[in-house]
Amino acid sequence: MVRKASRALSSSPVSAYPHSVTGTSSVSSESTACSSATETPGRIWFEDGNVVVIAQNSSFRVNEGILGHRSREFRRLIKEARRANRTGVELRVSDSSHDFEHLLRILYEGFEYTKAHRPTTFSDLASATRLAHKYTISSVLDQSFERLRTFFPSTLDEWDEHEALRAPSSPSFSPQNAIEAVILFRSLPPTSPAVAMLPTALYLAAQVPPALLFRGTWRADGTLEKLGDHAGVAEEVLTLHTSLIRHAVAAHSAVYDGAPKAGLFHSCGAALERAEKDFRQAAVHGDPLSRALRDEIEGLAGDKYKICEFCVKELRRREREYRMKIWGELRGVIDEESPDKGKEQMADVLKAEKTAGEKPSKR
Ligand SMILES: [Zn+2]
Repeated sequence: MVRKASRALSSSPVSAYPHSVTGTSSVSSESTACSSATETPGRIWFEDGNVVVIAQNSSFRVNEGILGHRSREFRRLIKEARRANRTGVELRVSDSSHDFEHLLRILYEGFEYTKAHRPTTFSDLASATRLAHKYTISSVLDQSFERLRTFFPSTLDEWDEHEALRAPSSPSFSPQNAIEAVILFRSLPPTSPAVAMLPTALYLAAQVPPALLFRGTWRADGTLEKLGDHAGVAEEVLTLHTSLIRHAVAAHSAVYDGAPKAGLFHSCGAALERAEKDFRQAAVHGDPLSRALRDEIEGLAGDKYKICEFCVKELRRREREYRMKIWGELRGVIDEESPDKGKEQMADVLKAEKTAGEKPSKR
């Protein structure tokens, strides 16, 4: 059924579909005759296709069997369009041509179609999630969520394991992608696995320069996404940002709090005091789940501080314990049934912290 798919998916479009053959669908009330003047055939144009989909100014000629087999929603739309005009099926969709082409490529070539020339990016997954949800394509949605979980995991171990994926140098994720993630996850139903990914998306959004939350960032399909356009969300992220700075400072204090007791070499106490002062300034950042403090601890064993292995081990334990605490608070939102409820709970967590004052929590 998908024979010659890869050849047909060439970059050079073949001859145009007779646009006079049109139908209408419930997706749009716009006149297709009018739109046909400006749209150009997209890269997906099968000679044996029997459905033309128009997204923005691109048109794609595809097979009803492929779309209908995977999506109940496409079956319904195609049926409606055919009822309106028996000579051909033309669907106008409100999605971006970028997103729609991406979905079609997944349907024809498989989820990993980009694999030959680049890794799957967050933008690819976000785009697939948006459309797979809209067109009820559960297999694509499941695969999208499975991959998105590596960016927005549910355990601290997985968070650490996939750290490189979220690093500034990552080819798969840009820090500002977190804005798109928050908006996407909040738009999905409360029963969706996206709800469990929202806390880490909010955390990553809190790492984005605050001005960008309001100015917005561009999605891969050219859509400008602003957290400021979603009531209360930018404020929620800013509050979280402040809370995370407090947490990072508190984590520093918790790690150096008193010298480790048993097995302490005499010299470690003074050296730890020095290190605590040296790194106090560096502790003022909003990314306490990063490896900054862990790297710092590993460095203490070197010539400058000569902290013994026993003490380093204890500091590692304290660092881990504090990060678990932050993680637990962040993940608190997922126990609720809906994102709105989760948001309220997150607000409660932040409020409780505020009333607890600036005092870092120590053991
Ligand atoms: Zn020691």
